[in-house]
Amino acid sequence: MTAPNASLPAPAGASAWVTVDAAAMRDNVAALVRRAAPAEVMAVVKGDAYGHGLLTAARAALAGGAARLGVAQLEEALALRAGGVDAPVLTWIFPPQADLGRALDADVELTVTSRWTLEAVLAAARDRGRAARAQVKVDTGLGRGGVLEDWPETVAALAAAVADGALEVTGTWSHFAWADAPQHPTVRAQQERFVEAVAQLERAGVDPGVRHLANSAATLTNPAAHFDLVRPGLAVYGLSPVPDLGRPADFGLREAMRVTARLTTVKRARAGQGVSYGHEYTTDRDTVLGLVPMGYADGVPRHAGNAGPLLVGGRVHRVAGRVCMDQLVLDLGPDFAGAAGDEVVLLGRGADGEPTAQDWAEAAGTINYEIVTRMGPRLPRVVVGEA
Ligand SMILES: *Cc1c(COP(=O)(O)O)cnc(C)c1O
Repeated sequence: MTAPNASLPAPAGASAWVTVDAAAMRDNVAALVRRAAPAEVMAVVKGDAYGHGLLTAARAALAGGAARLGVAQLEEALALRAGGVDAPVLTWIFPPQADLGRALDADVELTVTSRWTLEAVLAAARDRGRAARAQVKVDTGLGRGGVLEDWPETVAALAAAVADGALEVTGTWSHFAWADAPQHPTVRAQQERFVEAVAQLERAGVDPGVRHLANSAATLTNPAAHFDLVRPGLAVYGLSPVPDLGRPADFGLREAMRVTARLTTVKRARAGQGVSYGHEYTTDRDTVLGLVPMGYADGVPRHAGNAGPLLVGGRVHRVAGRVCMDQLVLDLGPDFAGAAGDEVVLLGRGADGEPTAQDWAEAAGTINYEIVTRMGPRLPRVVVGEA
């Protein structure tokens, strides 16, 4: 396994690094565009593109045919603009203290998620001497962001602003609670509630603009939820949002992130040697221990002690003992023939037999989203496959 890795560029002298495959992200988006058509694709690049790099991912997604980009926070949207991205960008999280004039100046689409956001968006537009253009988010049952109980009053307020020429509603959207369980009764209930909410807007004389509801799971498993636009995040990065229903390759996706380290120490240890803090692992025979220079400061979950898989010399080994801040240990077995400097793959492509973000999620009791998103800033990023 070291051979195929060796063909990828590695930062000289680095202990560990993240390789991001821009071509994989581009191809994943192209696959999502084909699947969602005629609905458009908004690629979600929040959270530094789930750890893959905001601008790298944004450019790759647009190259793959994404019509729009979505980010959670206004600051992320402004970072896209500062990086020269001029595609349509939607954001849905900002506090009352935010300077919404900056969003309007940067042509970032804001989401009305409450009465105060509506008033703030209208005030910012008034300040700039123009009509506001914004999307509106209805809470159809997730119980998180968006207008919930006061939807009728909000529809009336939106209609009044539209009638005054102060507002154009450019989109209407919502988000699922159980998209990863397509048969869950809330999925159909939320879809029906969404259709009804859109109809309420139309009856009030408000054009709802683009209608969208589907995240990655709904994009891949639930065409009835596609409406005018889909909003995949995880699938852009080649990970499966429904690991019980399919692996990435089953959906025509491939993992864009690979995490590699170099063994810094390889040493003999006797049977009965306790390993790492608290000695939660003890060697059961004379063996060889290998030190991997990555730890929880780099995003390796501490919960994956004695469990997380790493590929060394063509074999998968589990972390021996606790994950420390900067390092973890592997019991490489008595016959290990490698040496310090050898490459270790922490996560890569499942189809190539490498450990995956899903494997790490299972080892740590979390989801694959969290594994890739938390890869730490200390790890150098190497981008391959960029146009
Ligand atoms: C994160 C997010 C998405 C993308 O979700 P995935 O499950 O990663 O596809 C879509 N819409 C909203 C509102 C989100 O917060």
